[in-house]
Amino acid sequence: MIVMKFGGSSVAGAERIRNIAEIVKDQIDRKPVLVLSAMGDTTDYLLEAAERALKTGFVSIEKIEDLHLKAIADLELGAVLQKEIKTLFWELGSLLTGISLTKELTGRTRDCLVSFGERMSVRISAAYLRTIKIKARAADAWDVGFISDSEFGQAELRNESWVRISASIRTIIAEGILPVVTGFIAKDENGNITTLGRGGSDLSATLIAAACKAEEVQVWKDVDGIMSADPRLVSAARPVEMVTYDEAAELAYFGAQVLHPRAMQPCMKTGIPVLVKNSFNPSAPGTRIEAGPDKNTPLIRAITSRKNVTLVDIVSTRMLGQIGFLARVFAAFAKNGISIDMVATSEVSVSLTLDAERDLSSLCRELSEYAAVEVKTGKAIVTVIGDVRRSSEILHEAFGICRRSNIQVQMISQGASKVNISFIVNDKEADNVVEELHRFFFEACEKTAKGKEKK
Ligand code: ASP
Ligand code: MG
Repeated sequence: MIVMKFGGSSVAGAERIRNIAEIVKDQIDRKPVLVLSAMGDTTDYLLEAAERALKTGFVSIEKIEDLHLKAIADLELGAVLQKEIKTLFWELGSLLTGISLTKELTGRTRDCLVSFGERMSVRISAAYLRTIKIKARAADAWDVGFISDSEFGQAELRNESWVRISASIRTIIAEGILPVVTGFIAKDENGNITTLGRGGSDLSATLIAAACKAEEVQVWKDVDGIMSADPRLVSAARPVEMVTYDEAAELAYFGAQVLHPRAMQPCMKTGIPVLVKNSFNPSAPGTRIEAGPDKNTPLIRAITSRKNVTLVDIVSTRMLGQIGFLARVFAAFAKNGISIDMVATSEVSVSLTLDAERDLSSLCRELSEYAAVEVKTGKAIVTVIGDVRRSSEILHEAFGICRRSNIQVQMISQGASKVNISFIVNDKEADNVVEELHRFFFEACEKTAKGKEKK
């Protein structure tokens, strides 16, 4: 058995659905389970519609209707789906009307609302698969055992999901049926619909794979795999053949468009390999994510950056070596609900980074009782994922590049997971640093290697 997950762009319309049906057909002997995202940008449209209903009282699902009805018409599914989809549209419209009347949009309502995207996409895709003689059945996540806590918008799956999912998916497959399951959503114990966070359908897929001990999870996207750098920044970026789970998690976390960071956990636990593939270019080999490490770990796997980061410098105003200084600092962050990304410390000071959009005034007030605090916005984290056993080599080159470009590195940190080295530069310098690092580590090194081969 394998799990094949298709993201929004892979099911964005009739053409794309036909295309993925071919991909599925090619591997039908491997007993696939499909996990789908909402079609195209449906999730964003739904969130927009909710905000509009709330703020202006205006209810419109035109964009969403158009997208889905067009796909249904193009795939000639009108006769089978008209009624079911109309019912979903009706419910959706009513929900939005409710929001516009009550002028209230809770997390619970928002989750219920966005769930319509995935629920429609599995119904349309399964119906199409049946027209090409694949016995497919659409399933809402809760019908195959996805049960979560009640953290709307960011729900965590409960442990009993594992057993339930494995039992129900196996039953469906044993009937010779291909399950087409909604990604991203679940229900809590009280039967409320929840979502697993944006991009959460990756997690739905890896969880099914882990629970059912699948051979592999394929995550089909619109790029050729995990790239050595963001192709929008670096034109010479290329797909990476293989990365370890740890590396993929770091990459996702530090801004690469890979997999949802949480999605790696079920695979790490069970050792199930993930294959990242391009549904627009199925013959490309893609990237394999597995436990590793492989024998010939390269010096660098990939470079990534995250912008709009805030750097906070905190210097103790009390005596040297004061016991509990760091504990107090971290407790203050926890109390204010602010999560920290990178940390560097010395005896009397600590520097750390956070995502920008936070109000830090209450935190700063608290810290200023025992420390001098300086907040610097407009920073970027540049992360190099590579063989940290050779960190001196990596750092030497990276700092050389920064020095030549006259860029000051403002903080560095070597991740405990031993796969990344991150450093902070100014936001506007980040693109340049990433480009130069890529040129040096990938493009220039390859040229030398090729030159040597010729000799
Ligand atoms: N449709 C959801 C989103 O756009 C979930 C997903 O695609 O993974 O975030
Ligand atoms: Mg999406």
